[in-house]
Amino acid sequence: MEKKVEQFDVVIIGGGAAGLTAAIYCGRARLKTLLIEKSLIGGLATYTNEIENYPGFPDGTTGLELMDLFHKQAKKFGVKFKLTDVKGVTLEKDKKVVETFRVNYEAKVVIVASGGKPRLTGAKNEEDYLYDKGISFCATCDAAANTDKTVMVIGSGDAAIEEGIFLTKFAKKSYCICNARSRKDGL
Ligand SMILES: Cc1cc2nc3c(=O)[nH]c(=O)nc-3n(C[C@H](O)[C@H](O)[C@H](O)COP(=O)(O)OP(=O)(O)OC[C@H]3O[C@@H](n4cnc5c(N)ncnc54)[C@H](O)[C@@H]3O)c2cc1C
Repeated sequence: MEKKVEQFDVVIIGGGAAGLTAAIYCGRARLKTLLIEKSLIGGLATYTNEIENYPGFPDGTTGLELMDLFHKQAKKFGVKFKLTDVKGVTLEKDKKVVETFRVNYEAKVVIVASGGKPRLTGAKNEEDYLYDKGISFCATCDAAANTDKTVMVIGSGDAAIEEGIFLTKFAKKSYCICNARSRKDGL
């Protein structure tokens, strides 16, 4: 079956904070803009109930609330949203193509804002404790929630040590765990 083709000035892949910010700028610049998100508009930030470092929110806010505001602001500027998975892109030619199950979107510009995925250690039952259930991936985000607790940073690169040092300002005790296998295993 021949796929439907639709045309835009800009297609943004990913509806997290980065994609929505790009959408607000593109929409406000009066570019015909499409944002494609495969799961939840708002991305990773929607996993947190407490965002305290965003300017303009002296009492803090939740990830869902903040991302809902980003979404509303982008919609206000006429950005179109499509909930589907991007299956492929062709970026070499002037006319870029973003491929989804039913439609191929052609655009002058494609912005990839598909985010990052935290790398897990593979420890037993780890999946049950992710994000705000005990295992965090961002000290800047979650250090305050660990005030006066004992925390453990797993990893051995610069980032792990930086996170560990940051945590010392909040946690009662901060351990940094590394072993000789870390580098080989990519931890
Ligand atoms: C528990 C938790 C607490 C946090 N707390 C804070 C905080 O307090 N303060 C702070 O500043 N930051 C915080 N963060 C970090 C913040 O959430 C991230 O920095 C932010 O989400 C990154 O935004 P992003 O748009 O780059 O990526 P993401 O939010 O990961 O968004 C990328 C989006 O792209 C979509 N996508 C990927 N591939 C495709 C595809 N093929 N087709 C269509 N869509 C696709 C994904 O579904 C996703 O929605 C926290 C994160 C977590 C998990």
